[in-house]
Amino acid sequence: MRNVDLDAAHNILKDAFRPARRTSVNTFLIHSKGRLAIVDTGSGNYLLPTAGMVQRNLARAGIDPKSIDTVLLTHMHPDHSAGLTDMSNGAQLYPNAELVMHENEPKHWLDDAEMAKADERGKKLYFQAGREQVAPYKDRTRLFTQGEVFPGVTAVPSLGHTPGHTAYLVASGNDQLMIWGDTVHVPEVQTALPEAGMAFDTDLAAAAAARKRMFDRVASDGILIAGMHVHFPSFSRLSRRGNAYELHAEPWMHELGA
Ligand SMILES: [Zn+2]
Repeated sequence: MRNVDLDAAHNILKDAFRPARRTSVNTFLIHSKGRLAIVDTGSGNYLLPTAGMVQRNLARAGIDPKSIDTVLLTHMHPDHSAGLTDMSNGAQLYPNAELVMHENEPKHWLDDAEMAKADERGKKLYFQAGREQVAPYKDRTRLFTQGEVFPGVTAVPSLGHTPGHTAYLVASGNDQLMIWGDTVHVPEVQTALPEAGMAFDTDLAAAAAARKRMFDRVASDGILIAGMHVHFPSFSRLSRRGNAYELHAEPWMHELGA
């Protein structure tokens, strides 16, 4: 983490019964008007063996990846875009989907001058890997700056964590859900200390400003949120506590399969 006293961060985690950091990597399906979108694709086989479960979980949910017509990416980081493509053979894991993301994402990650500024790990894990993950979708990629990007889903650019990092606001009747992407990575610490960022934020200050704007908006509106790194099952509301915030998990309704 950056821009935080590490002892204070450790104490917040310890106090929340999390002696070590634990990170969920969530993705979401949106059924709308007879269509089906997945928001982010998880980490494929890029990260830890306890991650990369999206394909198995889709199968368990009875969903054929071929029936997904849209992949909405919050940003091109490996825990979000690595699940697009089977890296052992380059096959698209969503062969009928259009890949949809903010125009700043490929602009940044496909820029050789930007890549030259990164360290070796960053070059390999973020730039090179990201390019390989999106390349098979080259002919079916749609870029946006804002607006409705899928029926009932509006892009809410929240730039900073990456240059095109985007949240998605899902509306249905009177209900709204803000899928806020990577507004937080360590929820306990960053809701308590919203200025705390991550070493891999492309722009630490812009990411913190975007986080504060997002916190203020969803707390003021009281709307349901979900995040890629809010602990599973992720759905929560956020309330203000002075200069800090607190997440309140929604009950999880899960129908057990036969
Ligand atoms: Zn992430």
